[in-house]
Amino acid sequence: MPGFELFGDLERKEVNDVLDNGVLMRYGFDGMRNGHWKAKELESELAKTFKTNHVQLVSSGTAAVSVALASAGVGAGDEVIMPTFTFVASFEAIMMLGAIPVLVDIDDTLTLDPKAVEAAITSKTKAVMIVQMCGSMGDLNALQIICTKHNLLLVEDACQAIGGTYNGQPLGSIGDLGCFSFDFVKTITCGEGGAVITNNKEYYINSDHYSDHGHDHIGNDRGAETHPFLGYNFRISELHAAVGLAQVRRLPEFIAIQKKNYTILRDAISAIPEAMFRRVPEGGEESYAFLNFFLPDLEVARKVIEAFKVNNVDVCWNYFDNNWHYVRKWNHLKDSKSLFPLSSEVKKGLENIKNTAFDQSDHFIGRNISCLIKMSWTEDEVRTRASKMVDAIKSCL
Ligand SMILES: *Cc1c(COP(=O)(O)O)cnc(C)c1O
Repeated sequence: MPGFELFGDLERKEVNDVLDNGVLMRYGFDGMRNGHWKAKELESELAKTFKTNHVQLVSSGTAAVSVALASAGVGAGDEVIMPTFTFVASFEAIMMLGAIPVLVDIDDTLTLDPKAVEAAITSKTKAVMIVQMCGSMGDLNALQIICTKHNLLLVEDACQAIGGTYNGQPLGSIGDLGCFSFDFVKTITCGEGGAVITNNKEYYINSDHYSDHGHDHIGNDRGAETHPFLGYNFRISELHAAVGLAQVRRLPEFIAIQKKNYTILRDAISAIPEAMFRRVPEGGEESYAFLNFFLPDLEVARKVIEAFKVNNVDVCWNYFDNNWHYVRKWNHLKDSKSLFPLSSEVKKGLENIKNTAFDQSDHFIGRNISCLIKMSWTEDEVRTRASKMVDAIKSCL
């Protein structure tokens, strides 16, 4: 997945454009910048890539989720439904707004089970946030129907699924708002960075202002701008945007390499009847950033991870005991370990998480093996890896 694996002259050229004129800020300084507007250019490239009307770059994927929710009016006391398997960023971004993360079970797609989502809806629910983990997606059609029926926002955290599609539409562009990360380990990287995408003009204008102190961005005189509402600073810099601009132009090449490497590994593992691949909903195409499969149970999955280690097969994980990605080990969340006081509503929400058994999620995450697909592998390396993986899995069954 990581874009940093294929990094070089194209990125350097874009960054040098910025360094040559010295304007590192994305807004203003029109006379000094020699026509270079890297953040604006990257926003229009991303709009084309994601077939969406509006793109707002921000400083990270975590910021993108917060800005997306804020731009649609989600705030204190509102409930946002999210999956048990994601990255800690998901609940952080919700809690930053004073909103309440409501965790629900995943299914064999490795993200939101629509039935669990529907069961979790209350009068306080404002949004459903799907997280398209490890390069694939959930049942977006079913989730859209639920959201329409209950008048809820559908937000896509597509940070790990850049380049995947659903019925031909890019992931991230299907819900009311989509969020991307361009941190150092994502499919395309800016070093640090993120984006909010939407076809809703009002949400876009809100995210544009909100991510820059509420400035209205009208006219050429920064000092004369007014503040229609409160905001914060989640801006991206021109240097980061310049890196992303070179990377996004290479996205089709990156996806093709991931697909090639993924296919070799998948074909090899298909020969093992006990290994079942993660379900990709009908009409979906993965970004091929990871290969995910299920083994018969947690014990076998743990043994396989050990066997991979012994045989030097790296970048494969079982997330059952992982404290970045899975609810079981999010003790800091469940015990409300906050540096500052949390509202009683948020604390109650966190207690609910602590007191809920997520048996269905345990069932899928316990048996799952998730392997990162690197772009820098040679074909020989992928083939050797495939046969080592097959041997290691067979030795554990
Ligand atoms: C990386 C990631 C984020 C956060 O992105 P940052 O740019 O690191 O803040 C959010 N959600 C998911 C699923 C991610 O993988």
